[in-house]
Amino acid sequence: MFKQHFQPSGWSIVEDRFSPEMAGLGETAFAVGNGYMGVRGGHDEGPVHSSGMHVPCVWENGTINYEWARVNFPRRSQYVPQGPTWVHVYPTLGGEAFDPAKGNIVAFRRELDMRAGVVRKSVTWQDSRGRQTRLDSVRLVSMDRLHVGAVCYEVTPLNWGGAVVLESTLDGRAHGPFVHVGGAATAGEGCWLHVATTVTKQEILLAARHAVTLGDGGKAKFKSSMVIESKYVARRFEATVDRGQTLRLEKFVGVCSSRDLDSDDTGLLQRAASHAARATNDGFDTLLAEQTAAWANYWRDSDIEIEGDAAGQQGIRFCLFNLHWNYGGTDERVNIGAKGLCDCGYGGLYFWDTETYMVPYLTFAAPEKARNLIVNRYNMLAAARAKARANGYEGAMYPFVTLDGDECGTPWELALLEQHINAAIPYAVATYVNATGDETLLRDKGAEIVLEQARFWASRVVLNKTKGYVINAVTGPDEYAMVVNNNCYTNRMAQWVMHYALGTASWMKKKHPAAYKVLAKKNGLKDAEFVKWRDVERRMYIPFDKKLGIHPQDDAFLFMDPVDMKAIEKDRPLLHRWPWERLIRSQVLKQPDVVLMEYLLNDQFDAKTKLADYKFYEPKTIHDSSLSPCIHSIMAAELGLAKKAFDYYQMTARLDLDDYNGNANAGIHIACHAGSWMCIVNGFGGMRVKNGKLHFDPHLPKAWKRVKFALNFQGRLIAAELTRKGLALTVKQGQPLDVLVGGKKVRVT
Ligand code: BGC
Repeated sequence: MFKQHFQPSGWSIVEDRFSPEMAGLGETAFAVGNGYMGVRGGHDEGPVHSSGMHVPCVWENGTINYEWARVNFPRRSQYVPQGPTWVHVYPTLGGEAFDPAKGNIVAFRRELDMRAGVVRKSVTWQDSRGRQTRLDSVRLVSMDRLHVGAVCYEVTPLNWGGAVVLESTLDGRAHGPFVHVGGAATAGEGCWLHVATTVTKQEILLAARHAVTLGDGGKAKFKSSMVIESKYVARRFEATVDRGQTLRLEKFVGVCSSRDLDSDDTGLLQRAASHAARATNDGFDTLLAEQTAAWANYWRDSDIEIEGDAAGQQGIRFCLFNLHWNYGGTDERVNIGAKGLCDCGYGGLYFWDTETYMVPYLTFAAPEKARNLIVNRYNMLAAARAKARANGYEGAMYPFVTLDGDECGTPWELALLEQHINAAIPYAVATYVNATGDETLLRDKGAEIVLEQARFWASRVVLNKTKGYVINAVTGPDEYAMVVNNNCYTNRMAQWVMHYALGTASWMKKKHPAAYKVLAKKNGLKDAEFVKWRDVERRMYIPFDKKLGIHPQDDAFLFMDPVDMKAIEKDRPLLHRWPWERLIRSQVLKQPDVVLMEYLLNDQFDAKTKLADYKFYEPKTIHDSSLSPCIHSIMAAELGLAKKAFDYYQMTARLDLDDYNGNANAGIHIACHAGSWMCIVNGFGGMRVKNGKLHFDPHLPKAWKRVKFALNFQGRLIAAELTRKGLALTVKQGQPLDVLVGGKKVRVT
């Protein structure tokens, strides 16, 4: 379909040719991390310009400058900057600095081993004098020790012997908002670098230790010295290495940030240094063994096996790999940025992607992480209330783009008007609660979110004499239709919020009257408000065109300029190539809108309408958003459009590897990775939850012999295997369960 940069291979992403033009994509494809930090997959030897580290919750503030600004435009920008990195080691070989642009790369192989969670690289370089040296490395970010990263770097002169210098760095030079706080040498051939953001004064401290040996385990004789510059601290090791001998440098790094200081105030240096010291004592091989075990533990219940499609298999494993490390799910201050921890694209900011893609995946894959995300939004309620007040609404109005709960999204016609996030958040609460049965979360936190969101919508709608309740001037999920009236998705989802909120309130009153009383008192919630909610639910205007048998996306969509989709394919992504005014008047969708609505509220639309809407909108959708193909795959599977379902799956699962959107150098699209899981489980597996019951309606792609996946549901782990013969389900952990397969009840044991 589009160019495959990495040859399909079950557990690995392999780059078998040194290709500078792929540097950016490589930094994304070979990124590793553990939820606490993520490091770009730059080459060990640099360059360093975009090869930094991301620590969520270490952010910087800026000012949004407008030519003209209006009331309530966000003025403060926020972003997670690329932090200093620790991965680099610069070799000088026999007096000549390693530089792939000079001399000759004789052999090259880099591999992300997803099974073990490490990146291995081997390069043989011939310098200008014909001397060949092999450079081997293994890099990992420990899954067990959240503050530890390590590199094992080996140098083998193949046809010469002589002086080898390795400069092992802690490098923050390229990283804009950080200022140098300190840096020095420590024992254990160590060093440290301390930087802080300029405005928010948030800190990152890296402390390294090194062990230098000869490859056969022998003690290496070496001299070491320090390099200290602003935002750059390095240890330089000099040794004499014989022809064929291997010099091994093990580098252990402890990473701490101001985020850690909440629990107690042991200094950052002390903390980071002790992480590094412990790792050094245990040694690289121990870290490697731990890493392999930790990833094996993850893959045991989380892998998806596909038989009959090597590209599709590699795609889903890459997604599952990234999904696991880009979000730790243990710290409720942390949400998930649109690029995970792979890059600072989208500023590391949080969008509705979390609720619409990540929570639906995590609820079934790692429910405790999904819970954490809901708690994260709960903790933003005060800011959301303030936003509602500032705009003249009641309840809570969440920001479309944020880090700490305040809106920092631009442009206004997207961020300020994509109010549909206020339906996505309660929808995520419902998804999580229905699938896990975690009523405690609903009672203690979820209900408050849901009720406050209902109040927001009740104050946002306006009663129109002929239409009923309308919602004017919004932007729906399709960002190419801006400032529209009655975006069908928004209206229908807001209506759903009313329904769910009314149900939640009566559930609270019945099951937890005391907790309800406290909640109602705290927020001044009166029963009288429910009358309006009921009325809004009953009389919400949902655009429907009887003649066409479809839901118009909004009041104006059907009258917009028609577009020749084939002719504009070359203009992708339109938002960078078209004038804004052309975009806004054209009948082209960036991503699904009505089709997404019919996926989310799946059993509330009949098959005929869903098919008509799909056939109307899918040909008009250009998929400039990575959130688009997965929803099309799932709905195509449901509607019996097998080829489309399969093609959109491939596009989703390989979107970053094959760089379909042309911007994978700026990090993965993490929600799209969750979408790959959804394609398989919700699409090909046809999994839905209806009235608290698990349903499957399987559609195995023609090209596949078999697909195996597992999911968590109401305290159970259920394994599924889909073949031509049908769907085999087993409860791997927990009690037997009744599920519905193709509408028929079956007992799963
Ligand atoms: C999409 C939004 C999404 C954002 C972050 C945009 O391109 O249109 O729906 O929230 O990217 O992923």
